[in-house]
Amino acid sequence: MTGRVRATEADVPAARDGSGRSETLSALVDGLLTAAGPGAGTRPGAAPSVAAPLPGAALSGSADGPGALEPLLRAALAALEEGAARRGGPVPALEPGELAARVAREYAAARGTEALPRLASLLAYGSADPADPLCAAHLHCPPLAVAVAADLAVSALNPSQDSWDQAPAATTLETLLLAELAELVGYGGEAAGVLTSGGTESNLMGLMLARDRVLGRASGRQVELEGVPRTGPRPRVFTSAAAHFSVQRAAALLGLGEDAVVPVGIDHAQRMDPGALAGALKRCADAGELPVAVVATAGTTDTGTVDPLPECARLAAEYGAWFHVDAAYGGGALLSDRLAPLLDGVELADSVSLDWHKLGWQPVAAGVFLVRRAETYASLARRAVYLNPRDDEEAGYPSLLGLSLRTTRRADGFSIAVTLRTLGREGLGRLVDACHDLALAGAAAVRAHPRLELHADPVLTAFLFRYVPREEGRADRRADHSADPARADRINAALRRRLLREGRAVVGRTELPGEGPGRVRLKLTLLNPHATPADVERLLHAVAEAGLAEERAEAGLAEERAEAGLAGKRAGEGAGERTGERAGSRAEEEPL
Ligand SMILES: *Cc1c(COP(=O)(O)O)cnc(C)c1O
Repeated sequence: MTGRVRATEADVPAARDGSGRSETLSALVDGLLTAAGPGAGTRPGAAPSVAAPLPGAALSGSADGPGALEPLLRAALAALEEGAARRGGPVPALEPGELAARVAREYAAARGTEALPRLASLLAYGSADPADPLCAAHLHCPPLAVAVAADLAVSALNPSQDSWDQAPAATTLETLLLAELAELVGYGGEAAGVLTSGGTESNLMGLMLARDRVLGRASGRQVELEGVPRTGPRPRVFTSAAAHFSVQRAAALLGLGEDAVVPVGIDHAQRMDPGALAGALKRCADAGELPVAVVATAGTTDTGTVDPLPECARLAAEYGAWFHVDAAYGGGALLSDRLAPLLDGVELADSVSLDWHKLGWQPVAAGVFLVRRAETYASLARRAVYLNPRDDEEAGYPSLLGLSLRTTRRADGFSIAVTLRTLGREGLGRLVDACHDLALAGAAAVRAHPRLELHADPVLTAFLFRYVPREEGRADRRADHSADPARADRINAALRRRLLREGRAVVGRTELPGEGPGRVRLKLTLLNPHATPADVERLLHAVAEAGLAEERAEAGLAEERAEAGLAGKRAGEGAGERTGERAGSRAEEEPL
């Protein structure tokens, strides 16, 4: 067995004090918190405020804020270190119920100034940590330290982007950043955009502008004011069967209904088939329906595939539909010289979604929504007399209010801006390429493994695969690619939970589109640029090992059932079903 040996709580050097914290951490934290005492954060010589004597009530801003923050941050950082060491792997080795009980216990026990270190340690211990090379399930990136430090500055100052007088510098910075990102996409100077909570919100915005413009023109009404017309041609949205579910969600929220979304056929790699799109658009037009939008995906969530953007753009234009590109995942390819050509045609989109909390290594949330022509933003414009009065704007106070669906809004662009200036496009591109290389190495390792089956070559940094169980009862242990697809599904689903339970790895699980058994696939999404091909091999080895353990557990159960059935018959009584597993205790160790 080459899997990582996990540190258990008993391995943590310091003795426990019964609270779950180590004594060294307790001492450290107590010292730091005393230093941060009740008066910290109060200006010397100033009359003490009413709240000053209250421990934990210091503020983070003004010139005094950093002084109050420093000991708290040191305590939080020490707790993060301690909690991560105690976890010792990508995820805590606990069943969900055990972890929940531990969280509830710690939460109930955390009091006063101890709450921060105690709960930060718990959070670190109880996290799935994308900075661990064996945590590679989702589009869940390990944030860059520099981005997190920038985010901390934002948290301390708390600018809100809904009015200039809550975010004077941040307003300009967001505008500059968006211009830079628009250029990256290939848009001209007419572009506009906003930071969002992510692809879900960006897709909603794209479809909202599409609805208001296309349906508005066709029905001769201002849809954002008068609502979706109840008569007239039925509005339709076209997107691939592998598109993100937020497209359907957006159609529902926009009053079009999820059924307005036409799923367009895809190929084996889950890329939209342009012929199928052309056919679907033609059928829609022939039926007298209204094609409101074509949504192409640049980087599908499961396979990272990029739809044929130029063909989609051409077809959307031909039918008068809005063209939105969901590049929440694949937008990161724009940072890489090697991968950027995959996104050729994105500059033709009316609107685009990018997520910097995926291939951008930012803390959540770092979504970006861009439109090619600022004038298409019209239906979102808002005037709130208390936020962006006309005379303020005329006097030179800009407002971002009318660009967002939200009102209060964090300055989430700041960490992106700092990251871009720190690493540059080239530096970030190297990180993207590193993850792409990892995916290629991982796919090669899957192909070389007798028990693993690759679904398709990676396009970006993710790929689907599965563990192939042996044919039942076969002595030669050859992988069985055909028999009992339901069993393959069951074992793949169970092996992933086993890896979680044992705290060994976090692997994704999804299903191929379609019907019937045999569609369960495992997924690796490689977003850790510091992981190595050896790490990915270790991860795949753990998958194969867990698959074998599941096979043995199933075989063991079947054997037990048979034995229990016989015994039951003999004794004239039924045998209860055992759910316990005996993996590893039965059957000889086999090479994987
Ligand atoms: C992640 C993702 C989304 C959703 O984005 P959030 O940031 O999670 O809201 C939408 N589309 C695609 C293709 C994605 O990968």
